[in-house]
Amino acid sequence: MRKLIAGNWKMNGLLAQLDDVAAIADAVQDYPDVDTALCLPATLIRPAAARYPVMAIGGQDCHMVRAGAHTGCISAEMLSDAGARLTIVGHSERRAAQGESDADVRAKAVAAQAAGLSVIVCVGETEAERDAGQAEAIVLGQLAGSLPNEAAGEWLSVAYEPVWAIGTGRIPSVEDVEATHAAIRSALVARFGDGGNAIRILYGGSMNGENAASLLAIDNVDGGLIGGASLKADKFLPIVQAAATA
Ligand code: PEP
Repeated sequence: MRKLIAGNWKMNGLLAQLDDVAAIADAVQDYPDVDTALCLPATLIRPAAARYPVMAIGGQDCHMVRAGAHTGCISAEMLSDAGARLTIVGHSERRAAQGESDADVRAKAVAAQAAGLSVIVCVGETEAERDAGQAEAIVLGQLAGSLPNEAAGEWLSVAYEPVWAIGTGRIPSVEDVEATHAAIRSALVARFGDGGNAIRILYGGSMNGENAASLLAIDNVDGGLIGGASLKADKFLPIVQAAATA
């Protein structure tokens, strides 16, 4: 399966940072066997997609309805209209800070797909849940509740992102990543049949140029969702390079 390395810029980036998008868009052309994407702040989607059409530009969230009285929100159709090709939904920062439920995430994924976007659905346990031995149950529960009833690898990826690994420099052991991704794969196949084997499962949480090769070599790790290390080409490119050789 082709690997996907997707950056999540979160609430970072002014128009001046389009130079960084340009540097990344230029450099990833050297790795045609790896799918790459940058999920940018909403204000950068249009200029980035217009100036760097080779790069897949995405959003970081979308609303579940197409249009209406939802002050401050952005619909999937608006993302698509601005030039986005994909969006993240269900990131743990939104689940925690905006109180998004699995049902919300599922509705957003359905709306995004209906608008023609590819979708990255995020799941992951907190440190307290892991310490309580509930990591797998939490992840599989989120997965069951957050995925649409119909799904296909052409447009859907799942990102396993342990909350305690995001932005902390800490990552799970190879064995833990392998076990969790295997459990996610089994759940996808149980639900979607053979099509579940074609859905990419990304790992996210402090992936960087040093640890990417070992994480991307793990069975059922089909790419990465990258926060901090996606902001600059010199940090993002080593991850893309590792994906090309994994
Ligand atoms: C993320 O928030 O999706 C993420 C993976 O962040 P970081 O790479 O900075 O841990």
